[in-house]
Parts: sequence; C-alpha cells; structure tokens
Amino acid sequence: MRLKYVCEKCGLVFDSGEDCTKCEDGHVNFAETDSYEPEVKARSEWNPGVKFPERIIVPMSNGRKWNNEKGRYDEEECVFGIYEIVNELNVVDADAIRKEHDARVKKEQEDMERWRQMLNEKAGKLEQEPQSALCDGGEMHG
Ligand SMILES: [Zn+2]
Repeated sequence: MRLKYVCEKCGLVFDSGEDCTKCEDGHVNFAETDSYEPEVKARSEWNPGVKFPERIIVPMSNGRKWNNEKGRYDEEECVFGIYEIVNELNVVDADAIRKEHDARVKKEQEDMERWRQMLNEKAGKLEQEPQSALCDGGEMHG
C-alpha cells in the first residue's frame, strides 16, 4: 500500500509529504489584524436596506514560503482579500453550526470543571498533610 498525503486545507492528494506541506503552507489564512478594523470596515459595501454587506475586505496572511537560502520561512506579509456575500445559510446549515458550537462550548466547560475539581482535590490533599511535611525545619521565629 502506498502512502498518500492530503492537504488539510484544499484536499489535494500528494505522493510526497514535502509536496503536501508546501501546498498547505502556500494557502492564505485570515490574519490576526484587528488593528486594520476601521480601514477594512470603511471599505465594506452595503446596499440600502439589505442586511448583509455586499462585499467585505478581509485581512489575510500571504502564505509562508520556505526560503532555502535563509533556511527558514519568509516573514508573512498581510494582504487583503475581497469577499463577496452570496447568501445567508439556510436554516438546516445554520442549525448544524449552532449545534456544533453548543457541543464545543459544553465540552470546554466540562473540561474546565474537571480541571478545577482536580486542582481543588490537590489543594485539599496539601492542606491535610501535617505541617512538618510542608516545611522541613526552616521555621522562622520573630
Ligand atoms: Zn492545499
């Protein structure tokens, strides 16, 4: 059986992991560019009375490229993509997103609660241990 590699982002299939990594790294992502918000907002286009913007500008990374000479990835530079709104999702698709979201939030809360309980149990054990076990003879006298 021959091993195949699938790009996580676009689903292209490759024979070599290296080629697959190149494809994945070449894709553009939404960038962490909150600082551009006012400029980007000012370029959104709205039609009178329509609740969705006609098009929005989104800050993006430009995809990192491996630089062989420098032996590292080139710095990412912010680029801007134009996104056009086609339509809102239908009720079924929107519900699926909400259900996934609710399940994720619930799981995160449960994990957090489990973590908190574990910390409390640990703290409880420390309190129960005799003083002498906590400080080994280094008592201070005022
Ligand atoms: Zn790809």
